Amino acid sequence: MSNVAIVGRPNVGKSSLFNKLTKSKKAIVSEFEGLTRDRQVSKTIIDNLSYEIIDSGGLNFSNNNSALDSQILNQTNLATDEADLVLFVVEYKSGLLPDDQVISKLLRKKNKDICLVINKVDGVSDETAKLDFMNLGYQQVICTSVSHNYGIDSIIEFIAHKLDG
Ligand code: GDP
Repeated sequence: MSNVAIVGRPNVGKSSLFNKLTKSKKAIVSEFEGLTRDRQVSKTIIDNLSYEIIDSGGLNFSNNNSALDSQILNQTNLATDEADLVLFVVEYKSGLLPDDQVISKLLRKKNKDICLVINKVDGVSDETAKLDFMNLGYQQVICTSVSHNYGIDSIIEFIAHKLDG
């Protein structure tokens, strides 16, 4: 079974994305959902194939936003070690922050298949949103506004296209 990890700094919308992906009526039926090893995990089905979707933000981190704390790095490591595909979530509204770059570097070292998800793209074009994050250098980029259900289907289709269950 393929593993999809959702990572990123706090408040970018990881849990919201996890919830939409695992409860979407379009392509995914959630078979199982629970907290395992401090991660929110859901076994879901896309086109009759099973996937495990992992939300690395399953824990409530401290409110200290000034520095990326080691807990977040540990969570990112834990979630991505077994991942076949990583959805790296950043936030358009805040722009590219140093913590995004720290996480990006960590992910690069792991040689995983990574899709950059730019969330909170509310009321601007994808092209505009992508400009801010070009420096990260990702080839696979999907813009979303999770709270407006924008881009969710694109991610579901991307997962199904990339992984064969
Ligand atoms: P996490 O800490 O990365 O898991 O982030 P959450 O999923 O808890 O979301 C953090 C906040 O951002 C919540 O208040 C969400 O409602 C909000 N949020 C999530 N997606 C969007 C979006 O597309 N647009 C806007 N404006 N807010 C969003």
